[in-house]
Amino acid sequence: MQGLMQDWSMTLDRVLDHAKIVGPDREIVTRSVEGPIVRTSYGELWTRARQASHALREAGIGVGDRVATLAWNTARHMEVWFGAMGIGAVLHTLNPRLLPDQIAWIANHAEDKILFVDLTFLPIVEKIAGLMPTVKTYVVLTDRAHMPSTALPGAIAYEHFIAGRPTDARWGGFDENTAAGLCYTSGTTGNPKGVLYSHRSNMLHAFAANQGDAFGLRAKDVVLPVVPMFHANAWALTFIAPMAGAKMVMPGAKLDGQSIYELLEEERVTFTAAVPTVWLMLLSHLRDNKLKLSTLKRVVIGGSAVPEAILRAFEEDYGVEVVHAWGMTEMSPMGTLCSMGPQQEELSHEERIKLKLKQGKTPFTVEMKIVDDAGADMPRDGKTFGRLLVRGPSVARAYFKNEGARNPDGTVLDAQGWFDTGDVATICPMGFMTITDRAKDVIKSGGEWISSIDIENIAVGAPGVANAAVIGVYHPKWDERPLLIIQPKAGETPVREAIMQFLNGKIAKWWTPDDIVFVEQIPLGATGKINKMALRETFKDYKLPTAA
Ligand code: ADP
Repeated sequence: MQGLMQDWSMTLDRVLDHAKIVGPDREIVTRSVEGPIVRTSYGELWTRARQASHALREAGIGVGDRVATLAWNTARHMEVWFGAMGIGAVLHTLNPRLLPDQIAWIANHAEDKILFVDLTFLPIVEKIAGLMPTVKTYVVLTDRAHMPSTALPGAIAYEHFIAGRPTDARWGGFDENTAAGLCYTSGTTGNPKGVLYSHRSNMLHAFAANQGDAFGLRAKDVVLPVVPMFHANAWALTFIAPMAGAKMVMPGAKLDGQSIYELLEEERVTFTAAVPTVWLMLLSHLRDNKLKLSTLKRVVIGGSAVPEAILRAFEEDYGVEVVHAWGMTEMSPMGTLCSMGPQQEELSHEERIKLKLKQGKTPFTVEMKIVDDAGADMPRDGKTFGRLLVRGPSVARAYFKNEGARNPDGTVLDAQGWFDTGDVATICPMGFMTITDRAKDVIKSGGEWISSIDIENIAVGAPGVANAAVIGVYHPKWDERPLLIIQPKAGETPVREAIMQFLNGKIAKWWTPDDIVFVEQIPLGATGKINKMALRETFKDYKLPTAA
């Protein structure tokens, strides 16, 4: 027997329709790429997104066509999103931090038809336009007054593109499983792969990520998404904030400590989110200038593990609650959040800090488990580590154009529908997950696993060390043994023995690196994470002193 309730296709245009009704005057404040602070509202954003839809239609864009953006977090960028998604087009966020040739490769793979570009990235696009034959229209996200002369064929200023357009474009009316967004993973192995979100998957993800013990945003919140919209939809904040009717503050191109601080204080931000690097810049700005944070209540930190120093600074020095989060592009992206529950009420401050360094618990809709190399379930004892698998309505089942398929139907899942995250983790009896490594980075020594991340996190605390990386290097007896690679702080020369001494007692004896090498610069990838692949290549023939 079927239920007798209404069909209500979960399409994302409804999110903005709702925001316009519950918070028509609620602000979206942008530090514009041109410079000044610009204020708009959900009501105006709705109108302009409708105009964008009309203009997109006239430019030949329809259901399923890819609309690319190369842009910062701004209100204009949001207008293009909702304008494109509303008519069933697929919003494809390109990552400007990739190399120009990689961007062109991705735009071609996606077969983008139109590209919206911020002034900042115009030089990149001018360089690669000839390599992107599918892109027929270029729109520069600015007004006519700021429109530079450009070599881009037929480029038009955004304000001109939407000016005077009617607002009667029809939104929605298609199946909720229609593709809504496309985001490529940075491809640390092989070519980048496209994750193709649907309206339904994004909608369910936004509900999941905004539960009380997750983001828990309300209309009275002021949200600053520092995490870019080109990183898995700004961790869904561009859907959640309008759903909640919360005020949004968009940082544009300026992510340095001072610029973020100004927005936090002047716009009375209560909630913000970004990767650790952003918070390092903010915290050093606060310290150097003896500043306080007067309105900020919570900060979500993810993308890579939260360093203890950042956690302590926010919580102990500034009274801001840190929520550590883990996820990935393929998960829309939220996988776990480290929120404190009723069982944690009795914990001491130090115990709580220790717990908050874990990646956390799954919000409803995300399922996770750990398995060994043969696929057998591993215990949730907080000690045993295994490959982390996930399942849920906002987890990818295949990549765009079936790249990286594992099964004849193009999917990448195992027989029970689980997605392998490529991470290695432990899960404790209370459900808190801890990432111990990337599966490809874990060091396999004599059949046992050594976590490279654990050693790195400790080694960065050693005197004179700016950054540390650990990779597995061939060993005739143990198969692999850890090699510690150190980037010294500017002007310092840390010594090998002092570092070994520092590690002693902090890690298991058999985890102790077999050797240490010093390099000027540890290579980083496009998302600011250590590029282990490059390091493995550099040190592939390295002979450990213990290998003789
Ligand atoms: P990529 O960096 O490969 O493009 P994502 O940006 O989707 O992919 O990053 C996903 C990966 O980032 C995760 O699989 C995990 O390894 C890492 N990651 C994300 N958040 C955390 C965290 N809080 N702690 C440790 N690792 C994290």
